[in-house]
Amino acid sequence: MSNKTIGVLTSGGDSSGMNAAVRAVVRTGIYHGNTIFGIKRGYEGLIDGDIEELSLSSVSNIIKYGGTVLLTARCKEFFTKEGRSKAYDNLKKFGIENLIVIGGDGSFRGLHELINEFPIQGIGVPGTIDNDLYGTDYTIGFDTAVNTALEAIDKIRDTATSHSWLFIVEVMGRNSGYIGLYTGIGGGAEEILIPETDSDIEELCKKLEAGHRRGKKSSIIVVAEGDEAGNAFDIKKKIETLVDWDIRVSVLGHQQRGGSPTAFDRLLASRLGYEAVLAVMNGENDKMIGLLHNTVTLTPLEETWTRKKGIDESYIKMAEILAT
Ligand code: ADP
Repeated sequence: MSNKTIGVLTSGGDSSGMNAAVRAVVRTGIYHGNTIFGIKRGYEGLIDGDIEELSLSSVSNIIKYGGTVLLTARCKEFFTKEGRSKAYDNLKKFGIENLIVIGGDGSFRGLHELINEFPIQGIGVPGTIDNDLYGTDYTIGFDTAVNTALEAIDKIRDTATSHSWLFIVEVMGRNSGYIGLYTGIGGGAEEILIPETDSDIEELCKKLEAGHRRGKKSSIIVVAEGDEAGNAFDIKKKIETLVDWDIRVSVLGHQQRGGSPTAFDRLLASRLGYEAVLAVMNGENDKMIGLLHNTVTLTPLEETWTRKKGIDESYIKMAEILAT
């Protein structure tokens, strides 16, 4: 048995599966004899003292919902030492000595600062659709986002084929091309433009034209929002004089963040939430819990944003061959 007092919060951009992670933290924590406090609206609620104890039943039936029952926020005040000092005062008031933060790299930076300045221990749980954190093969919400984007691409393909159009579809991911790559491969995109690879627009147009001449009824270019060649509208401008094809643009937005989590995200979130509590109980600190090759791993928080998570080059080659 353990009798730690653990706070849990979700922070930054929401992602599907955060609720499953919160549930796992609460249930695992209480099972092992700990007290769990839920902090609302991320660091904003921590500064405001919006904190309440969670029971086993307070997380009933949330595993299937997107978003986060703890709510989330982007909090300017937490960037300042004064803000973090207020946050620490509240943690002290509730007797919370351990914090589990479910979020992306920004949330982890904040947690790292707090740990450096005050006697508080913290573990990060990767919750972001971008899958851009070093130290885990997958982040919570990525799989759901890819499935949502894929559903949209399948629908777009019907229209593209019916009209013989060339579609440029923009997906989210900030500076990461993971959503673009996985969605592009899954959706059978003719071209995939992601920030991790150089985009050769002339070469791309030649391939599109060759496909058109061979009788391709439609083409889809998936572009990641962070691609160095620009967004979907920029790409359209660059290629419209080089290809003899009617072009349409579709920008997929925040629907990629929400919705019921896939089985994969529910399992990932459950595992990482469960393991985060065990890590806290083992005295681990200033680390992110992640999954590498299906094995639970701890990575120093700082490495999750200072080290670059690469893209598997073999996927890119494969995508090119499969799209011809
Ligand atoms: P994400 O966690 O999804 O990457 P953000 O980058 O918006 O989202 O970060 C979430 C919150 O974490 C910010 O609004 C801020 O309160 C806190 N945060 C981010 N970076 C820092 C930092 N360098 N120092 C302190 N707090 C930070």
